[in-house]
Amino acid sequence: MFIDTHCHLFYPNFNGEVAEIINRAIEAGVDYIIVPSTNLASCRQAIDLANRYECVYAAIGVHPHDTNEWDDSIIDSLEKLSKENKVVAIGEIGLDYYYDFSPREKQINAFEQQIELAILSDLPVIIHNREANEDTMEIVKKYSTKGLRAQFHCYAGTVEEAKELIKLGHYISFTGNITFKNTEDIRKKLIQIGMKNLLLETDAPFMAPEPFRGKRNEPSYLKITAEKIAELFNLTTKEIGRIASFNAYKLFKVGKEPQANFTYELNDNLYINITNRCDSNCIFCNRESNPVISGYNLKMNQEDEPPAHVYINEIGDPKKYKEIVFCGYGEPTIRWDVVKLIATYVKENGGTTRLNTNGHGNIINKKDITPEFEGLIDTVSISLNSSDAIEYARLMNVPSEYHDEMIKFAKSAKKYSHIIMTIVGLDKVDEEAAKNLVTEEIGAEFHVRHYFE
Ligand SMILES: [Zn+2]
Ligand SMILES: [Zn+2]
Repeated sequence: MFIDTHCHLFYPNFNGEVAEIINRAIEAGVDYIIVPSTNLASCRQAIDLANRYECVYAAIGVHPHDTNEWDDSIIDSLEKLSKENKVVAIGEIGLDYYYDFSPREKQINAFEQQIELAILSDLPVIIHNREANEDTMEIVKKYSTKGLRAQFHCYAGTVEEAKELIKLGHYISFTGNITFKNTEDIRKKLIQIGMKNLLLETDAPFMAPEPFRGKRNEPSYLKITAEKIAELFNLTTKEIGRIASFNAYKLFKVGKEPQANFTYELNDNLYINITNRCDSNCIFCNRESNPVISGYNLKMNQEDEPPAHVYINEIGDPKKYKEIVFCGYGEPTIRWDVVKLIATYVKENGGTTRLNTNGHGNIINKKDITPEFEGLIDTVSISLNSSDAIEYARLMNVPSEYHDEMIKFAKSAKKYSHIIMTIVGLDKVDEEAAKNLVTEEIGAEFHVRHYFE
């Protein structure tokens, strides 16, 4: 369920107990542990641990504290070590201006050389930053265009910086410090940063969560931190595990790529992932790049699209859910016949249905499908996206005439279903005009949606 992306298992205070500690971790739901090194000696220890224990992976690198001895020959040793089995990252590396154990120029030089090695070796880096935000951000931004992929462990930057880093494709993690009584500010920060690029870590033997604060930390305590994060986001611990483990897979290639989900549960609804195909190509859609929602992998090739009975089987009793929603990273009306079969089953068994659509169903199916909604689709949620046809065409990469077709679709569907029309909360879109069009002219319900967030 969990991946501890940062645990210094080679520390002397674990000596003789590693096997037990790993067993306790597995019992607590930790599937994998990544062991970041701090110098050449611990690189070898981390690799040894990875060779000895199946669930352990190694990261190799020189910590800023240890860069006092840095000379350029070290990079050659690191390069050799990076080729060892089960080495999944360069780390931990970075800048520490709090302790300043090593002159800053030396820290920066070692940091940059190790980033260059990571890029060359196609490995991610694990970054340690303490009171060195400005320089860390500058260096990371410089290398982000050259292929750098990074985890910011024990995140210490601002919310704005985190958002910038996430945009650049980097990942963020917090330690047991989010459970401390006096760290309300860190919890607030985490909530504002969001779950999207979050990883889990203990930083053991340091940073033990409450009620073990100040004691030796160990990977089984990761569960406590995950439970706290779940509480903050109002999600289950399982969901936090799924989201963070998928992120760890994406960054480190540790674990398994989650199988594509045909159906997935969110907020008491069951979502039906009908297709990834779409007749539009919205500028805000990450269907092509990253078809993931809340840790669920929704990637589906056309040849893998299942028939109706597969979905029906997964639905079981539809009354268990608030709504059965036809959705996914694609346009469900492309498989209208399959949607109808599933909706028939749901309605016959007392469930409630919603169709999330771009409103192009009549164009796609070359006929008016809206009368078929009667008794089958309770709610139709249509992406209005804009009240302006030209802007609509630009946002969705479709001919501007589609705007008119979509409005016609909405007006006609209103005879058979409850209609909601939505826009994505983009600053450029005129919300007032869209709201007027929906409530006054079409007579439907109006929502501003946050696209898959
Ligand atoms: Zn660190
Ligand atoms: Zn560390």
